[in-house]
Amino acid sequence: TSAGRRPLVAGNWKMNGTRSSLAVVESVRQGLTPELAERIDVLICPPSTLIASCVAAAYGSPIAIGGQNLHAKPNGAFTGSISAEMLSDLGARYVIVGHSERRAYHHETDDGVHAKALGARRAGLCGIICVGETKEEREQGRALDIVRAQLAIGVPKGATAADTVIAYEPVWAIGTGLTPTPKDIAEVHASLREMLDKLVGAEAEKIRIVYGGSVKPGNARELMSVENVDGALVGGASLVAEDFLGICAAY
Ligand code: PGA
Repeated sequence: TSAGRRPLVAGNWKMNGTRSSLAVVESVRQGLTPELAERIDVLICPPSTLIASCVAAAYGSPIAIGGQNLHAKPNGAFTGSISAEMLSDLGARYVIVGHSERRAYHHETDDGVHAKALGARRAGLCGIICVGETKEEREQGRALDIVRAQLAIGVPKGATAADTVIAYEPVWAIGTGLTPTPKDIAEVHASLREMLDKLVGAEAEKIRIVYGGSVKPGNARELMSVENVDGALVGGASLVAEDFLGICAAY
């Protein structure tokens, strides 16, 4: 990756996994060589029900564990919700914020994403803020406008590389086997980096911008070598240790 940013390969299990899935963490732990762990950050975001046991399974290894969502507030009468403080208390170090599935199925807005990113920071978690255009928006030539606006509203003032990662995830590439061309990814990531510079100044060079959407062992090398791509957010392929490790091995 460029500019000395340390790559992040993050797995998002979504609503998949039961206690038997701890074997995946165990296999990733076994398969992750010290050489690789020295070069990249590896993160697994299981469903909330498995965070504590995944933290235990990854204990003493280079694998970090994260949440997939959070409530912006620290506590209160919000039945069914989980705060950043609660995730942190379990040993989570990251949390995904504003994934397109949350935006689509739970009506999350850019302002909501902003509030959640602040919540993550408050509890000392690194927020992975997701942006991405739909197929229709790309076809209308609006992809850059959309992701730049999502970034401008979502990213809190004073964001740093320690508390913020950006994930570019085109909605049409998630779970479809489709990916943008390296040229299109490079264009979006460069544009996001430029917008970050407007938002946080020099820190923009340090903040990682990862790509997500149908990343597989077979395309990881090509996607991860694109300029300004600092890692991957992996859905489907993160459920199989061999595939997830294959993606890590792109580095
Ligand atoms: P996918 O999902 O790798 O299955 O396309 C990516 C994501 O939603 O983070």
